[in-house]
Amino acid sequence: MNWIDSHCHLDFEVFNEPLILNTNLRESGCAHVLVPAISEQYFSRVQKFQIDANQHHKDLVYIALGLHPYFLKEHKAPHLERLDCLLSEHRPMAVGEIGLDFALPPETHESQIALFEAQVLLAKKHQLTIVVHARSSHDRVCSILKRHKFINGGIIHAFSGSFQQAQNYLRLGFVLGLGGALTYDRARAMHKMVQQLPSSAYVLETDSPDMAPAFARGQVNTPMNIPKIAQSIANLRGEALDKVYQDSTDNFMRVMLSSNDPV
Ligand SMILES: [Zn+2]
Repeated sequence: MNWIDSHCHLDFEVFNEPLILNTNLRESGCAHVLVPAISEQYFSRVQKFQIDANQHHKDLVYIALGLHPYFLKEHKAPHLERLDCLLSEHRPMAVGEIGLDFALPPETHESQIALFEAQVLLAKKHQLTIVVHARSSHDRVCSILKRHKFINGGIIHAFSGSFQQAQNYLRLGFVLGLGGALTYDRARAMHKMVQQLPSSAYVLETDSPDMAPAFARGQVNTPMNIPKIAQSIANLRGEALDKVYQDSTDNFMRVMLSSNDPV
């Protein structure tokens, strides 16, 4: 099987032997990974990572470029201008990782919203999808996407919201990134949500190197954990592993690849 990890940070220093990792990825059945940047400092780094990896394995690495809300203090106005340029020059798969992290102190929320809106508008301008980090902020993210009539869709990364919130995103053309969090027994609400989702609703992700699944606790998380995460989804939904593979692959292709034709 050719699995897709729709969200991992393989450019991070913890993966100090990226080429070995890339070889292992293909050998272990991982065909594509999407690596989003988190700040301007990382733009050239993820671009280089993509170029190096794809020299050996065609289309192994897709990238997204964006300014992550968690690193708000690092972002400056010229970084948005640089992003604007790179979106036309480099043509990444998506704008990301962008969003709203309302677990951060309330006094940061207004600046987070301004930064998120600016990047949603860039994605609109360049006709790209977005990769969204949304923590304690799903309703606000949805209302911003609606207000800006953002119809390109994308991925809501590490989704663990309610079924109602899932439906709101699906109506806007998004898919939900499901990962290691659902492998924990205590994640009951999430299990129920995963059981209720339509087959067209989700993609797989690890968020490597963080968010280690229950079966790999204490280890560095890598995209090679994707098949086991998929097996947990298959168990929860009472489906064959093959169906989870097919649905998650189709969903990624439909949302992320069909809208990525250069304008
Ligand atoms: Zn991430």
